[in-house]
Amino acid sequence: MPTEIIVKSKFAPVSIPDDISIPQFFTRYNPDNVPNDKVVHVDLIKGKELTYGGVRESAGRCAWGLKTHLGLQPGNVVCILAQNSSDFVILAHAIWWAGGVVSPINPLLTTKDILHCMTLVQPTHVAVSAAYYDKVQEALSRLEGTHEPKVFSVLDRIDGVKKFPEDIQGTSPHESLPPYDLTGKSSKTTVASIIYSSGTTGAMKGVKISHFNHIINILQGRSSVPVRQNSDQRIIFFAPYCHIYGLGTVVLGNMWLGNFTCGLPSFDLETYCQQFGKYRATLAYLVPPVVLLLVTSNIPRKYDFSALECMIIAAAPLKKALQARVKSIFPTTKITQGYGLSECSPSVLMQHETDESHIGTCGRLLSTTEARLVDPNTGADVDINTEGELWVRGPQTMMGYVGDTKATNDTFCGEWLRTGDIMLRDANDNFWVTDRLKEMIKYKGLQIAPSELEDLLVQHENVVDAAVCAVYDDEEATEVPMAYVSLREEVMQKGAKEVERVLGEVRTWHDAQVAGYKKLRGGVLHLQVLPKNPSGKILRRELPAKKKEGRLGS
Ligand code: AMP
Repeated sequence: MPTEIIVKSKFAPVSIPDDISIPQFFTRYNPDNVPNDKVVHVDLIKGKELTYGGVRESAGRCAWGLKTHLGLQPGNVVCILAQNSSDFVILAHAIWWAGGVVSPINPLLTTKDILHCMTLVQPTHVAVSAAYYDKVQEALSRLEGTHEPKVFSVLDRIDGVKKFPEDIQGTSPHESLPPYDLTGKSSKTTVASIIYSSGTTGAMKGVKISHFNHIINILQGRSSVPVRQNSDQRIIFFAPYCHIYGLGTVVLGNMWLGNFTCGLPSFDLETYCQQFGKYRATLAYLVPPVVLLLVTSNIPRKYDFSALECMIIAAAPLKKALQARVKSIFPTTKITQGYGLSECSPSVLMQHETDESHIGTCGRLLSTTEARLVDPNTGADVDINTEGELWVRGPQTMMGYVGDTKATNDTFCGEWLRTGDIMLRDANDNFWVTDRLKEMIKYKGLQIAPSELEDLLVQHENVVDAAVCAVYDDEEATEVPMAYVSLREEVMQKGAKEVERVLGEVRTWHDAQVAGYKKLRGGVLHLQVLPKNPSGKILRRELPAKKKEGRLGS
C-alpha cells in the first residue's frame, strides 16, 4: 500500500459532545457574554432587527407554531426559497429548534431545477416569498412523492397562504418549544441541513450536513481564523443564505457569536458600500468578483471603509494579482483567503500570514482537520510542491448525499473526502488551488454543473453533441461557462455563415431556459469532433479552452 502523507492542522483541536443539537448549542454557550438585547441582524427588505435573545425566543415560539399549526415533526425537511432577511434567519432557527431539516434552495433556479431539488429531498413543508411563489407552485404541481408539502409564505403575504412568522408563531410564553433534544441519537447522524451541490460530477445532489458538522465547523473556525473572536464584529453580507457560505457563516456562526450582520437581499455595489459606511463594518466576507469591483469602481471611494479590519475572500479562486491589488488599496485591512466546500460544512483552509509569500494561497488547515494531496492518475500521495487532489478528513465532512449511495461512496475513500480540487502545498503547509478535477464551474461563487448545460444543448435540433467547460473572465474575476457544440451535417454543408448563425441561435435558446447565472457567458463555439474516451465520456480537460494559461491558480 502506498505511503500516506498526512498533513495535520497546527491549531489546537476542538471538540464538543455529540449529544447536543444546534439549538442546545445556541442556548447553552454564549462565549462572549452577549446581552440579550444586542442587535445581531438587520435586513434591508423590511428593516427588521433581531436581537441576540430575540433569535432564541422567536425560534422557540415559531418552532411551536410550525409543530402545532403546520404539523412539523423532527426529521421533516423544509425547503426555503427566499431572499436574505431576518425572517429567513428566524425560520432556519425555528426549524432546527423543532428538530426539522433546513433545506434552502437558490430561488434564482428555474422551475425544473427547483423540482429536481424537491424530488431529491421530498420536503414536507415549503416556505416561499412572493417573488418565487409561481415557480414553486409549478414545481409542486409536478412533484411526485408520497405526500403533499404544506406551503407557507415568508417575507410577503400571499392570498390564502399562512405567513411566517405572524400566522404561525406562539403568542404567549408557554406557546414555545424547548430547544430540540436529540433523545439518545447522535448529533453526528442527525441531519440538520441539506444544501445543493453537484459534487464532483453530474447533476445537483443534496449534501446532508449534521448538527455536529455545523457546530464543529463554527468551533473550528473560531479556533483558527485570523479575526478577532469577540462579538464586536460588524458585517455586511450579500452572499445568499441558501449557500453554505451564508448558512454556515451568518445564519449560524455569527448569530451564535453575537456579531452584527446586515443581510443584503442581493448584491448591489452602491447599497453594499452605503451599508458599510452606515454600520462602520469591521469584517467583510467576499467573493473574488466583488473584490474586483471594490478595487476598480469609484463607488467605494464615496463611502467610509475606515473601520474595516479584515476581508475574508472565499468560494472561488482569487488570483494572486487581485489579492496584491486589493492590499495596495486597503493597506491597513488584513486580506485573507479561505477555502471550503458544501461537503465540508464548509470551511477547510484559511490564510493566516498575509505577507508577500502567502499571497494567492488559501492558507493552512483549520483546527481538527487533516489533509492529503493524492495524484489522481497514480493514486499515490504527493509531497510539497507537487499537484494532487485534496482529500480531507475531519469532523466537518458531510454525512453523504441524500438518496445517492453511489455518489457518496465515490466521494469518500474511507474517512477521507475527495474534494475534486487540485492543489499544491508548500513547506509551511499552505495550500492553494491550481486546477479542478471535478466537473464544476464557479460563476461568482455559484456552482454550475457542465453536464446539466450539455444535456440541455443536445436537445437543440441542430446540435449533435456538446461539451461545456470553464473559461476565466479576467474582467469579472470569475469563471464563466462556455460550450463547444458539434452540429448537424446539414448545417455544416451550408457553410461558415450558417454555422455562425446557428451558434448564436443555440446560445440564445439555451440561455432562455436556465437560471441567469448559468448563461453561456463564455460563448458557444463549434467543434465537430469533441474529445472523448473510448466509453464516450467527454474529456473536458482536453477541450481547447482548458489550456494551461487559463488554469485557476495562475
Ligand atoms: P461550494 O460547495 O459551492 O462552496 O463550492 C466549493 C468549491 O468552490 C470548491 O470545491 C472549489 O472548487 C471552489 N473554491 C472554494 N474556495 C476556493 C478558493 N479559495 N480558491 C479556489 N477555489 C475555491
